[in-house]
Formats: sequence, C-alpha cells, structure tokens
Amino acid sequence: MDAAKPQTPIITYEQFRKMAEESGRSYNFAMLDDAYALAEGAHAGQKRRSGEEYITHPVAVAAILLDLGLDTEALAAAILHDVVEDTEIPLEEIERRFGAEVAALVDGVTKLGRITFSSMEEEQAENLRKMLLAMSKDVRVMLIKLCDRLHNMRTADSWSPQTQRDKSLETMEVYAPIAHRLGIANIKEELEDRSLSYLDPIGYAEIVDLMGQKADALEYVNKIAGDIDVRLKENELNDAVIHSRVKSIYSIYRKMFVQNRSFEEIYDTYALRIILDTIPECYTALGVIHDMYHPLPNRFKDYISTPKPNMYQSLHTTVISHEGVAFEIQIRTKEMDQLAEYGVAAHWKYKAGVQGQDKLEERLAWVRQLLESQRDAEDSGDLLRDIKSELIPEEVYVFTPKGDVIDLPSGATVIDFAYAIHSAVGNRMVGAKVNGRIVPIDHKVVTGEVIEVITGPQNKGPSRDWLNIVTTSQAKSKIRNWFKKERKEENITEGKAALEKEMRRAHISVPEDKYDEFMENIARRQRMNSVEEMYAAIGYGGLQTARLLPKIRDEYAKLVKSSDPVETFDIPIKTHHPKASEGVIVEGIDNVLVKFAKCCNPLPGDPIVGFITRGYGVSIHKTDCRNAAPAFSSPRWVNAYWAENVKESFTSTLEITALDRDRLFADISSLLADMRVPVYSISARRTADGRAAMSATIGIQNTEHLNSVISRLRRVKDVMDISRGTV
Ligand code: MN
Repeated sequence: MDAAKPQTPIITYEQFRKMAEESGRSYNFAMLDDAYALAEGAHAGQKRRSGEEYITHPVAVAAILLDLGLDTEALAAAILHDVVEDTEIPLEEIERRFGAEVAALVDGVTKLGRITFSSMEEEQAENLRKMLLAMSKDVRVMLIKLCDRLHNMRTADSWSPQTQRDKSLETMEVYAPIAHRLGIANIKEELEDRSLSYLDPIGYAEIVDLMGQKADALEYVNKIAGDIDVRLKENELNDAVIHSRVKSIYSIYRKMFVQNRSFEEIYDTYALRIILDTIPECYTALGVIHDMYHPLPNRFKDYISTPKPNMYQSLHTTVISHEGVAFEIQIRTKEMDQLAEYGVAAHWKYKAGVQGQDKLEERLAWVRQLLESQRDAEDSGDLLRDIKSELIPEEVYVFTPKGDVIDLPSGATVIDFAYAIHSAVGNRMVGAKVNGRIVPIDHKVVTGEVIEVITGPQNKGPSRDWLNIVTTSQAKSKIRNWFKKERKEENITEGKAALEKEMRRAHISVPEDKYDEFMENIARRQRMNSVEEMYAAIGYGGLQTARLLPKIRDEYAKLVKSSDPVETFDIPIKTHHPKASEGVIVEGIDNVLVKFAKCCNPLPGDPIVGFITRGYGVSIHKTDCRNAAPAFSSPRWVNAYWAENVKESFTSTLEITALDRDRLFADISSLLADMRVPVYSISARRTADGRAAMSATIGIQNTEHLNSVISRLRRVKDVMDISRGTV
C-alpha cells in the first residue's frame, strides 16, 4: 500500500529559494535567508525520526506554504516554527531579528503545538477546532500549523504504530475539518487520505486496488474530455480548460463504508472539471453538457447561486455517457476554482503586492465577505461562529486538568466553569486554581487556561452572591435550583423579607387584617399555588420583586379604593393641607401652585425638585425620591428651593416598629404631646411576627425638627425602628 501513497522528496533550502524566485511574487529574500541561517544553526545536530536533518522539516513546511502563495513573514515564520519550542533560541531574539509580525506567528504556532488532545469524542473535537481557530487570531498561524501537520503526515511512516494512529485520528478529527472550513481542498484531501492509510490500512489498500483496476476508466474519461472540448469550442467557449481528476481515496472510502455503496455505484470516482472565464459561460457550458449526455436526476447542484458555507462555488452534474458510464462534471470560473483549491489562502496567492495595513484590511475583508456569504447558507452556524470568534472573541475555550476543553461565553468566571462541568462540582466549589495558581472566585477565564476547581464538603452549597458573579444562564439556574431544593425555609424567609422591603420602598403598606388576602391575590396572579411558594421563588431568585411590583401596586390600588378606614386606636384629629407656594421657590416660575408629593413628603431642609404637572401646578419631590430620580432629564423637572424662614407646618408620617407591649401606644402619644408636636393621625397594628407597627402623621417644621422628634421617639422603651413613610 505504501507504493500508492505519494512519496515526499526532501527539498533543500536552495530549491525552496529557487521556487520562491520562480513564483512570480516578490519576496524579501534577505529575511528568508536570515531565517534559514538561524533555524539551521539552532536545529544543528537534531535529527528527525526518519534520520534526516531536522531542518528539512521546517523548509518543507515553508515550501508547502509557498505553494499556497503566502507572504515573506509567513514563510520566515514557517522556517522558524520549531525553533522556540525545540531549541535554546528565545522568542525575543526572533522578534529582535525579524520583527513583531514574524514573532507573533511563531508564538502562535508554538502555542497551538502545546495543546494536546485528551479524547476525540465528537463534542471535544468540535470544541478543539473552535479553540484552535480562536487561538490563531491571525489565519496565517493556522495555515502554518496545517502545513506543519501535512508534512508530518507525509513523513509519518517512521513513527511508531501507536503514534501513527493517534496523530492520524487527531488529523482526521481536528485538522482536516479546519482545512475544509478554510476552504483548502487540496490540503484537506491529502490530510484525510494519509490519515486513512494509518487508521484503516486494509480499507485504504482495497480502494487503491479498485482504482488501479479502473485505470482504463481514466483513459475513458480523458476521451470524453476531448469530445466535450470540441463541443465547447463549437459554442464559442474557446478558453475552456478541462481537467480530469481522480476523487480522493477518503471520499470514496466514506461512500463505500459509511454509506455502504459498492465501488461501481460511486459515480464520481472520476470527475471532469471545466474552468471558464465568466459565470454566464458556466451556465452555457452546462447546457452544452446536458445536450450531449443524459443527466442523472437529482444529481445537479448549483453552488454558484447558492455557495457552500466555506464559500465554495461550482456547478455539479452527473451524466451518463453513451456507453452507460456515469461520471461527475464540475463547472466553474477561474476565481471559483482558485477559491476551491486554496480557500482562505487564495487571498495571498492571487492578490500579491498588497502591503502593510491594507493587507490586514484585505484579510479582514475576506473574513467579512465569508460572513456575508454565510448568512443564507444552510449549516452556516458553526463556521459563522468560528470565524466570528476570530474577530470578536465571544467564546473562550479552557481546559480541565485532564485536558478536556470547555467552551464558555467570554466574560465567564471560574464559577461558570465549575457549573459547566457539573452542578455537583459547582455546588461544592470553594475556590479555583488557574494554571496551578489560586485565583479569586470572580476570575474571568481566558482561552487556553487550565482550570482546577477546588471543592469542599458535600453539603456546602453555593453562595447567593455567586448569582451576581456568574454570567452563564446555565450556572445561574443551577445555583437557583440548589437554593430552591436545599434551602426552602430560608428561601421563604428571605423572599418574604425581600418583598416586604420592596413594598416599603414603594410606600405600600397593607393593613394587617387584609395582609394575607392581599398576598394570596398576588400569588394567584403570579400563578403560584401558595404565598409560601411565591416567597420561596423570590428567595431563590426565580422571581424578581421588581417584576411583581406593578401587580402589587394594582392590587393595592383596588384595596385602597374598596377598603374601609383602617382600624385605628385614635381617631384622626384633623386633615392638614400644607399650603404651598410661600415655602418653596420654583426656579423660573412665579406664583405657581405648589403641592408636596405624597410619595416622599419633602420637608424644609430636604433637597427638592419640582415637577410641572398638567393643570395642578408644580409638585415637589425630594431629589432622592424614587419617582423623581429616574426622570430628571425631562424638561418638566425644574429646580426648586426652600424659601428662608418657612413658618408653615408640614406633615410627615413616621413608621414605628416596636416590640408590642402594654402602654406602648400611650407612651408614644404622650411623648409627642410633650414635644408639642401636632398629631394628625396615628394607627397601630400587630404584625405577623408579634410586633407592633405604628404609623403616625405629625406636623413638622423642617428636617432638623423631624430628626429631633425621631431621636426622642427612639429612646422610648421597646421601639426598634423608625422611618419616614407615606401618608
Ligand atoms: Mn513542525
């Protein structure tokens, strides 16, 4: 079988240099010569397994890249690609002698080379492909790596059988698909064929043998090519070029062994390719072919109007000759052919002479163009994501200590990583090491890092703070799930407290006797089975209190409308309407009707702001009022100040929480009386947890006055908390 594999002759640097001179492209030979001098010296004495001088390998890699048409920097980097990894020469010296561009390419190839593969499960392979593409930010890094692998596969006969199989599997699963995605058909096919020869030597030999027996078929196809050429010229397609070619061994292998078809059933073992100048000529040629031969139904594919995801364009048809032999014909323009053969590399091969910044722009333009063409194509998803990750790194790829690759959205933390492995790992996490070093728990992971999760006892569980650190929805929901399951009681308490806090903030106070019914209504509207369930949902983070608020406000409005006066211990004495305008100056508006917003009850001394209402004058809010702050940008908000010497009395409502006891109410009202504070209303209720909640609306002169009243009240026995509330 070895006889069937094309052998690879050694190329000397002199031969390589001559090929470069004859390529017709312009190269910086001083740089190439210098790269060779450095590499030859550095590798001196090193041998390949085959016994050849090591330097033959980098030169061979550079020669393949030369054929792809790459530029001086890429060729120099190819000659130097193993220097940093395998010799004493540091990257700094390469940068000093050859500049940052060459150094970056060598560094990229070196880093890719350090990645080892633990398993070849499909998902792993896919992640690896993506990671490699993401890591080679400059597509030339990947091209050098592909040519490096190609030359290694060409010389793999000297490896041990185990190495041959390992490297072949890796090549088949990772590198050939990358070559395919970059559209480089030649390299893809050769990588596959050479890998196959080690992975299934018997299958490989069988196909080589069958193809040998069909050698006369090639002769036959060549005769048909002649017939077609004549007809094309009759139709004035004088510049048509016709190639006959043998399909790759692996493509036949797949059809025989994967699709279970016999060799005879495979129509496209031999194929003709017709290259023309323009797209209209392609369709004309197709008409000529279909006129000459009978086309097989369902075998015509128009990849010109609908390109493949890797931008491949061509017309494909399979026809039956007059002798009953089926064969495939591909028709395309010269440019399409170049793209099909060289893919992303076609850019360098056929657009030589573009320099510097423009070169980079051109390269990005190519990728953009690739993205554009993806949009409508089927199965474009993967490639789209791959290429995008080169431009906008939206995914990162990191390793477990065992070498598995985990992909995460960029910005993900070590906690996200832990939960991506398994929820049990995340729930027991106490810390993490990155590349062997302890990192903070909010460390954002970077492509290529090896991450080890440090776990604690079984029942430790995550911290609620983690919900603010993690970025993946997967981690968030796993953390919430843990709290949901493990901490039901705690969730209910937490949720209840959070909701009460939110309601206080919104100045919604539901009377004790209506409280349960009120909450049941809210829970029902939230499609919860019980109030407890709702509290629990809030507690573990599955339900946001801010989302509940509109429903609560709505229910509260209904309640306030329908309810009788709240049970009070003391009857409201009088209703106070703060007379307005004298106390407040509204900037730019004289003699305006002023009223004080009920949501925040501003007092003299509070920083305030006015809102021009429709027909009701200006309403005054505290500047830190929730209703004011978000809307300051509206022109209806105006500056407002307190006039000096405000004589008027303002109302303020105090919410007093205390341990319930006899005479508490009496103590508070008598203290207020002692201080000569007018009391407009006062009410009290017992809360569910056995405390007393009092609400007192009192007359106040300014904030200073209010603060002194509050501090006196705080000294009353058993009073726990006092806050300014709503009316
Ligand atoms: Mn190498």
